[in-house]
Amino acid sequence: MTCPDYKDLMMGYLDDELDDAQKQSFEDHLASCQDCSGELEGFRELKQITDQVALVEPEDKIWQDYWSGIYNRVERRIGWILFSAAAILLLIYGGFRLIEALIKDPTVDIILKAGLLAIIAGLAVLFVSVLRERIHFWKRDRYKDVRR
Ligand SMILES: [Zn+2]
Repeated sequence: MTCPDYKDLMMGYLDDELDDAQKQSFEDHLASCQDCSGELEGFRELKQITDQVALVEPEDKIWQDYWSGIYNRVERRIGWILFSAAAILLLIYGGFRLIEALIKDPTVDIILKAGLLAIIAGLAVLFVSVLRERIHFWKRDRYKDVRR
């Protein structure tokens, strides 16, 4: 056999796929041939690197958990945003109806009216602020997820 023949055996040797006779003859050749043993060394290093890369790559299961985790978090976040928005809207709507009724009622004290108006105004400010905060965190977290 000549060097090119042995080079054909090289990958099989690295993957331990040669039969005993092939292995023996390849090792005998390596002992006497600088060229082939040097090339084998290079392949061995390359194989080590590619094996390491393969090890670092997460399993399919891990990816699935990873993506379903993100999905769950996004789902919960959207649920929470809808819930808070709806709750606050209902509160404000109910509040306005109540205020409307109270303000039209001449028997209700002016201070009570002013207090109720202040509560409604406060709720409206809170609503905007919470909504902005939610949207801000949602955007930021989504960005973080993609970047990770
Ligand atoms: Zn050789």
